[in-house]
Amino acid sequence: MGESVIIIGAGLAGLSAGCYAQMNGYNTHIYEHHTVPGGVAACWKRERYLIDGGIHFIMYCRPGSEVYEMYQQLGMAQSNRFLEMGTYVRFEDEAGGRRLEVTPDLDRLAEDLMALGPHETRLVEELIASARATQGMDLGTLGMDDPPELMSPLGWLRQMWAMRGLVRYFVGEYQRPIQDYVSGVDDPFLRFVLENMFLPDVPVWFLSMLLGMLPDRQMGLLEGGSLGFVLPIERRYKDLGGRITYRSTVEEILVEGDRATGVRLSGGRKERSDVVISAADGYSTIFGMLGGRYVDRKIETMYREWEMVRPMVMISYGVARAFAGEPWLSMIKLEKPFEVGCERIDGLMLRIFNYSDRFAPAGKTVIQAGFETEWDHWSDLHEDPAAYDSEKQRVAGEVLQRLEMHYPGLSALVEMTDVATPYTTWRYTLNRRGAYMGWLPTPGVITSVVRRTLPGLDRFIMAGQWVMPGGGVPGCLYSGRHAAQILCHKDGKAFVTAKP
Ligand SMILES: Cc1cc2nc3c(=O)[nH]c(=O)nc-3n(C[C@H](O)[C@H](O)[C@H](O)COP(=O)(O)OP(=O)(O)OC[C@H]3O[C@@H](n4cnc5c(N)ncnc54)[C@H](O)[C@@H]3O)c2cc1C
Repeated sequence: MGESVIIIGAGLAGLSAGCYAQMNGYNTHIYEHHTVPGGVAACWKRERYLIDGGIHFIMYCRPGSEVYEMYQQLGMAQSNRFLEMGTYVRFEDEAGGRRLEVTPDLDRLAEDLMALGPHETRLVEELIASARATQGMDLGTLGMDDPPELMSPLGWLRQMWAMRGLVRYFVGEYQRPIQDYVSGVDDPFLRFVLENMFLPDVPVWFLSMLLGMLPDRQMGLLEGGSLGFVLPIERRYKDLGGRITYRSTVEEILVEGDRATGVRLSGGRKERSDVVISAADGYSTIFGMLGGRYVDRKIETMYREWEMVRPMVMISYGVARAFAGEPWLSMIKLEKPFEVGCERIDGLMLRIFNYSDRFAPAGKTVIQAGFETEWDHWSDLHEDPAAYDSEKQRVAGEVLQRLEMHYPGLSALVEMTDVATPYTTWRYTLNRRGAYMGWLPTPGVITSVVRRTLPGLDRFIMAGQWVMPGGGVPGCLYSGRHAAQILCHKDGKAFVTAKP
């Protein structure tokens, strides 16, 4: 038996850390707060419908990339079908009656964007040129080859060299947040389109990379939803000899002589190990489970100043209708905004799960509307269960009225309604203030290097979206692998990988 490792959290990062540690001869045990694996990559059953509250699309879903190689090592590539997207997203302007579809055809996208904003030729050309420049490039491992602790100057140079043809698309204007970059665009719908192709806070280069992946068909939908993606990695972990205990919440990381020695679970039981890896929420790990004793100025600044992803409300309706031909994702700019807490909601994201028969019985569909919202509104309301439930119902009704305009007769066909709030995200994953993807991926944050170890604490490593700014499936899986790489390095062992 190798050294024993306790891993906190069976999200993607914790499971990945477990798999790679097992491949390298460690004896791991994951303790997970929830009853199922996956963390925020979550699905749940409601009546005869399967609701997917997690992953929208998988990047680097075709063989040939290093990320895909990792999906194979973790057993996900073999057990999932990644479905092609005809349309990435459709934008709708209720007030102006205009529409725009983003498809893998970048020429068409350029024409459609210019038709919306004939004065924006330069901006559109720049964006499309940068997207084209990233086409065909394997950028999924950018900055992820090794954890910061092990990245040598030569490693950084190698990465820079691989990207040398692209450097001009990662500097200057391309480093600005997309919402700043498009702030001078006159047409409000065109601005809405450009800001909402991903989060408005990401740098322009991130959007370029995303658009460049479309013609490469490197973005796929999950036929079996987030659960179908997660279960194979849990199986792979168990096949490698790993153990998981669900319904186990870690309250404290045990430390003796500045060395992590195990965990204390809620209920008081103590479990000992040679090493502890936390793949759970960053704030509660560092300031809760470790009592804030192992921080430096950089860590304090991060947790004080960095913004987190704004939490979401997700309302899923089980509808007795097929929605054939509708795109899987739409962004709707509402003509009649509505209020939630102190905020005015003027846009909706609509996911239509019509691309697989796993989500609903034949002829029926789950459609899911989402929008960003305030944490405090929902967490305060939760103190009063009746008020919380009635606000959920009110919001579900407001949203349904808006959707009725797009799909007349919809309300009469709704058989099931499920409302997940930021409080729901927190309850099942313990991510701080319902931040489902960790840090907000602003240009400064997304390029920041966050160490996986804490100053002064031995035999302890972190993984997951709180040490991988921007989160996301590839990044979180990589961070789990990094944890195992750090372990091997400290133990003077060569790090190995294996495929099932
Ligand atoms: C709606 C949505 C859409 C998304 N879309 C995409 C997408 O299209 N593409 C993409 O790449 N990424 C997407 N993401 C992001 C991606 O899914 C996440 O970044 C990633 O899954 C996070 O994994 P993680 O393991 O770091 O964290 P988590 O999933 O948060 O896992 C942490 C785990 O730790 C457990 N835990 C926490 N505290 C404790 C404790 N004290 N004791 C025991 N266990 C504990 C939690 O229960 C949880 O299971 C999306 C996320 C969401 C929510």
